[in-house]
Amino acid sequence: MNQTIAVQSPAPLRKLCTDCGLSRTDDPKRCGQACQFIQPDYPALEQRVHGRQRLQNTVQENAQPDELFFGPYQRILSARMEPPAAGAQWTGITTRLAEVLLEQGQVDAVIAMAADPQDRWRPRPVLVTRAQDMAQCRGMRMGYAPLLSLVEPALAQGFKRLAVIGIPCQIYALRAIQPQLEQEQGLEKLFVIGTPCSDNTTTENFHQFLGLISDRPQDINYVEFRADYKVEVRTDQGEKRLIPFLNLPLSTLPPDFFPLTCRTCVDYTNVLSDITVGYMGGHGQQWLLVRNAQGQAVLDGIQDQLVTSAPISKGQRDGPVRGFMANTERAAGGLPLRRMPAWIKPLVNWLMPRVGPRGLEFARARVEMKAIESILHLRREAPARIKNMLPAHVWQLAARYGLQAETAPPPPPSQVQHIKDPKV
Ligand SMILES: Cc1cc2nc3c(=O)[nH]c(=O)nc-3n(C[C@H](O)[C@H](O)[C@H](O)COP(=O)(O)OP(=O)(O)OC[C@H]3O[C@@H](n4cnc5c(N)ncnc54)[C@H](O)[C@@H]3O)c2cc1C
Ligand code: SF4
Ligand code: SF4
Repeated sequence: MNQTIAVQSPAPLRKLCTDCGLSRTDDPKRCGQACQFIQPDYPALEQRVHGRQRLQNTVQENAQPDELFFGPYQRILSARMEPPAAGAQWTGITTRLAEVLLEQGQVDAVIAMAADPQDRWRPRPVLVTRAQDMAQCRGMRMGYAPLLSLVEPALAQGFKRLAVIGIPCQIYALRAIQPQLEQEQGLEKLFVIGTPCSDNTTTENFHQFLGLISDRPQDINYVEFRADYKVEVRTDQGEKRLIPFLNLPLSTLPPDFFPLTCRTCVDYTNVLSDITVGYMGGHGQQWLLVRNAQGQAVLDGIQDQLVTSAPISKGQRDGPVRGFMANTERAAGGLPLRRMPAWIKPLVNWLMPRVGPRGLEFARARVEMKAIESILHLRREAPARIKNMLPAHVWQLAARYGLQAETAPPPPPSQVQHIKDPKV
């Protein structure tokens, strides 16, 4: 069985909102405490979900080396499914994890995104109760859809053990309301499989982008912004094109092509999931961050189909991040971007995959770029929101590039009382 439940209430009106679904529930006031864009408290939620906050790489804390960038984790892996799943965005690890949870009877239902029947690029939340129906959720859609509007209807139908697949802004709100779902609505078990996310936009805007890169945008069935600085485009006719990032017609897109939410998103790697499945640090493979014991247990379910390796880390991110910052400062200030002369683009396109940051260094670069972008765009477009919206780790990441908080951000309530777990 596979259901989409009619969404009752209208779409939200807030400017900083990605329509995660909470505002469409019976108690939309919860957005005030549960929204990533209002007053997030990552330390408190990391503590509750993982038993600890992300650690710093200091003598006292003896952190995993990259927790400042990627959030709490136990293991980082490069991985792929063998054989890859047909129709998957990469090799289908994300949907397979949930499929196995259904096969093994560990959950009653999975909440994830499928494609809208009228538009393959438009995400549509679905409640899946049969393992074989997870196949329809494979692949990336561009846009926003109210995933969380299905959680309470699922519980009301008696599906008390759930898995949710979501992007970071959806998972933040889900984790924020999790105690209430447990105490008041009978949620017994929750598995959270997250993907990283960046540069999302409305489905309408994405169609505009497809029209700029192809004469037949209606034939495009796959797009991915790969970690080797190329966009991969596939069509229904079986063609495959690789377009270097520098050759993309991004300059012709309007300045608000990416909504302010996605330009100021502080959780690229989905730090509150049990396991994050992406590609960013995978250097051509998928990239897994196992964040807690439950995430490891979910991964164990697909071990016989998984090929894993240690992630690589090569190149230096400093130059590309500084270049990005200079361009973002110009764009956020309303100035045109500094463009590269046409003759130099092929050279840079050749060089970047070979000498630019790769593997984990690429992922660190992207996380730092997002931190810088969040600060610069909020300073220009919503300065009053900076104090509450930007967590301390964003300032720590940006400090290396000379960006400082105007006044030191107040510690979130959880940090004031935080006692470090001596076991970690
Ligand atoms: C808008 C967007 C931007 C992304 N940006 C990055 C990035 O910068 N770096 C990176 O490493 N990974 C990013 N990802 C994740 C990446 O595209 C893959 O989904 C991920 O690597 C998993 O691949 P897979 O083959 O295991 O997924 P599959 O098994 O094919 O499953 C894909 C899953 O994605 C979910 N999904 C698809 N579209 C949406 C949507 N619009 N909203 C919410 N969930 C959706 C589906 O529920 C499905 O479960 C992004 C995903 C989205 C939706
Ligand atoms: S919690 Fe979700 S629905 Fe509510 S304002 Fe935030 S993104 Fe929008
Ligand atoms: S970039 Fe951030 S805010 Fe935008 S859709 Fe992705 S997770 Fe949500």
